[in-house]
Amino acid sequence: MILGIIRGKCPHCNKGDIFSSKGSSILFRMPEMGKRCKNCNYKFEVEPGFFFGAMFVSYALACAEMIACFVLTWAILKIPIAYIFLCVVSMALLSSAFNFRLSRTIWMYLFYKKR
Ligand SMILES: [Zn+2]
Repeated sequence: MILGIIRGKCPHCNKGDIFSSKGSSILFRMPEMGKRCKNCNYKFEVEPGFFFGAMFVSYALACAEMIACFVLTWAILKIPIAYIFLCVVSMALLSSAFNFRLSRTIWMYLFYKKR
């Protein structure tokens, strides 16, 4: 299950890709997601607005990453607080596409039921 989440595979068959493109934070391009699994035809968006809740997962991920970045730069690198702030903000912006993909995948796996 964890491997499936990391690799972005369908929660039903674990073979089909959930996202057709990975997206890029640098180019401001969000990942593209297929409506159904190409391998088993599993519908990813089970009901309208299903991915609304993924926003909370994304928030938790971003907080965890920002705290980790803060602790790393503050405790290990010991750089001035303005640079730490810049590091944390740039890290949050750069990881946005990654968080988008990961939060939706986690959300799907959380509410996946075998039908
Ligand atoms: Zn599938």
